[in-house]
Amino acid sequence: MSQTSPVSKRPDLPAVHPGMGGRGVLQRFADVLPVTDATPDITLGEGDTPLVRSVRLEKETGCQALYFKLESCNPSGSFKDRGMVVAVAKAVERGDRAVLCASTGNTSASAAAYASRCGLEAYVIVPHGRVAEGKLAQAVAHGAHIIAIEGGFDDALRLAREVTARHPIALVNSVNPHRIEGQKTAAFEIVDALDDAPDMLCLPVGNAGNITAYWRGFVECYQRESAKKKPLMWGFQAAGAAPIVSGEPVPDPQTVATAIRIGNPASWQRAIEARDESGGDIQSVTDEQILNAYRRLAQEEGIFCEPASAAGVAGLLQQAASVDLAGKTVVCVITGTGLKDPERALAEFAFELNPVPPELATVEREMGLA
Ligand SMILES: *Cc1c(COP(=O)(O)O)cnc(C)c1O
Repeated sequence: MSQTSPVSKRPDLPAVHPGMGGRGVLQRFADVLPVTDATPDITLGEGDTPLVRSVRLEKETGCQALYFKLESCNPSGSFKDRGMVVAVAKAVERGDRAVLCASTGNTSASAAAYASRCGLEAYVIVPHGRVAEGKLAQAVAHGAHIIAIEGGFDDALRLAREVTARHPIALVNSVNPHRIEGQKTAAFEIVDALDDAPDMLCLPVGNAGNITAYWRGFVECYQRESAKKKPLMWGFQAAGAAPIVSGEPVPDPQTVATAIRIGNPASWQRAIEARDESGGDIQSVTDEQILNAYRRLAQEEGIFCEPASAAGVAGLLQQAASVDLAGKTVVCVITGTGLKDPERALAEFAFELNPVPPELATVEREMGLA
């Protein structure tokens, strides 16, 4: 392990796509992941996502530098791919023939993608009517077996645990430790890009696997001195689904941000540890704040994310009202792409299409040029 870069160099492994990037998380980070000689080297080109600087919101928050980590650029469109590639590789290594997850959508899209690539069956349990269309389309396209239950995510996860306790099927939710290991690599990339950890990391919190993973990644960077500091972890839950904020499970969580519509997070305790050990905070933001950040990211930063991803940015704007961010470097994690949920976009950005004749004069008039 080099002191300055967490990126692994494995001369023993051939480049997957020479000169075209796409080495993937398992190769790049082999020496800090549970990779053995028996782990298959699979990738869809996950990881190595852009860290782009804010052009407008930065000034408003008063921080020195604001960056967005575009996890929406992962192959299935969310950060879940970083952990899923490790979880599925380990399932193949163990000889499992099938994977199962409970999902608000993105976990199932990612599991289905990697399972199809490895020739495994994928089973997904989803809360009926609460999964964004794009995510369902992905699971269907990859040939996953979809079980829709009349219940919420928390019921789905309970059932997934029960099934995998009785059958030789790998559970690939973030309760699978390999998921967390894979997801921590996003923290390594941020440290690599900034040459240190940021002062604050803002992200949405649902089942709380990701805040757990980032914290582990930053702690590891600090321990091996590739970072001089550790960030404050600022996690944000939707107001109608904020069990960690209120201190008790939410029986019927409600929010437009379906990816974080979770009332009893599996990694609750570890999220609290990340919060407290980092000196950070976990707060709630309303759906109105979330949708406001969703619109502003799209129209002022050029970033089209899904509503859950906007919760981290909504949270930063909320914090900026009371915390002095002068001199601070902040990273917001954009967890998933807006293409997942086109219905939400069309509802949010009111528009009407009135077809006109294909004539220059008419088009100019429509454009306000005539
Ligand atoms: C899964 C997910 C989250 C929540 O992450 P947790 O690890 O469950 O806290 C947030 N945003 C998106 C887009 C997700 O897919």
